[in-house]
Amino acid sequence: MKRLVLVGAGHAHLYPLSRAREFAAAGVHVTLIAPGQFWYSGMGPGMVSRTYEPADDTVDVEALITRNGGTFLRDEVVRIDPAARQLHLRSGATVGYDALSLNVGSEVPMERIEGAAEFGLPVKPIKNLFDFREAMAAGGAARLRRIIVAGGGAAGAEVAANLWHLLAAHEPPDITVLHAGERLVEEATPKAAELVSRYLTSLGVKLLCGARAKTARPHELQLEDGRCLPFDHLLVAIGVRAPALLRESGLPCADDGSLRVNEHLQCTAHPEIFGAGDCVCFRERCLPRIGVYAVRQAPVLHGNLLAFLRGESLQVFKPQKRYLLILNLGDGTGLLTRGGFAARGRWAFWLKDWLDRRFVGRFQVT
Ligand SMILES: Cc1cc2nc3c(=O)[nH]c(=O)nc-3n(C[C@H](O)[C@H](O)[C@H](O)COP(=O)(O)OP(=O)(O)OC[C@H]3O[C@@H](n4cnc5c(N)ncnc54)[C@H](O)[C@@H]3O)c2cc1C
Repeated sequence: MKRLVLVGAGHAHLYPLSRAREFAAAGVHVTLIAPGQFWYSGMGPGMVSRTYEPADDTVDVEALITRNGGTFLRDEVVRIDPAARQLHLRSGATVGYDALSLNVGSEVPMERIEGAAEFGLPVKPIKNLFDFREAMAAGGAARLRRIIVAGGGAAGAEVAANLWHLLAAHEPPDITVLHAGERLVEEATPKAAELVSRYLTSLGVKLLCGARAKTARPHELQLEDGRCLPFDHLLVAIGVRAPALLRESGLPCADDGSLRVNEHLQCTAHPEIFGAGDCVCFRERCLPRIGVYAVRQAPVLHGNLLAFLRGESLQVFKPQKRYLLILNLGDGTGLLTRGGFAARGRWAFWLKDWLDRRFVGRFQVT
């Protein structure tokens, strides 16, 4: 039997995991290597405000793959040896493959703020958001209320809003969003940025744009312009980069460490290696680091893995130019933005909630 190994239980691998029987029918055994269950990022900020619980936001990927005839290894890949077609795992085991698919996501580059790894909490992995909420509930909420969210992109803005709604039940918290750019949510239109800024300001969240964090120390964040801000909790949402694994394994990578793939989502140097989601750089340009692309790539990835193993021709992935982004603002409203359009309302959150629950529900094993 041929061996297909999927590394990482990300947004793009749920689809092939749920259809692993198609590989078995083609004489291919599928193995998934992942450190744990899948956490859906779209509902992550909503976990902070208790809109969602982990049961809403997670997929038991072990159950998903084993139910579909594959093997689950709860482990982590620490090195890929493309010449030997072998994976080295944290446990010390090695696993061989005939085809490999990488969906290892991205990490917050904590090293960009000195001391952040020690005194801050990255917003990825998504489970951190749940752990933070639980830690606040366990006692911190009443006393330790000065919170800095470093990074005012969509993730930072959503986390700040949901955190405010979690804590405001006691008394309004002291939350500051620090953003290096001139306006929040730069990935969306100026109108969307204005709506988010106005909303956060109306809650009493302080916004510091054009301010870059330099050094985190216990309870103090120093900015590049010399100012020092006190904090009890520092959440870091300053963007993402690919895990070091790809570059350290000698695979062809873009500047941010993501795997270079062609129009078939196939590694440019090793045709038996495929990849999708945040960890790849698609052709010459890296796509925005949003789950939407990982989800859209999934069926093409699945089809191409099957076709490659059968010796058939591969499909082309055509990324959409515009995408729908809905921010959960934590009060039952959402901010919807697509292309040049941006609007806020309850209807936007309902739509997001419906889309997110439908997506996760498709893969949850009952
Ligand atoms: C707070 C927040 C909210 C967001 N909200 C949205 C949203 O609403 N809509 C949207 O489109 N995007 C959103 N994003 C962006 C989105 O999270 C990413 O684009 C998405 O997670 C990318 O999915 P992926 O499939 O590439 O990887 P992921 O879903 O991140 O999964 C990668 C998996 O690989 C595993 N892994 C990593 N290294 C290894 C290894 N060496 N061995 C084995 N397994 C490994 C990880 O444990 C992880 O489970 C949000 C991001 C954040 C931080």
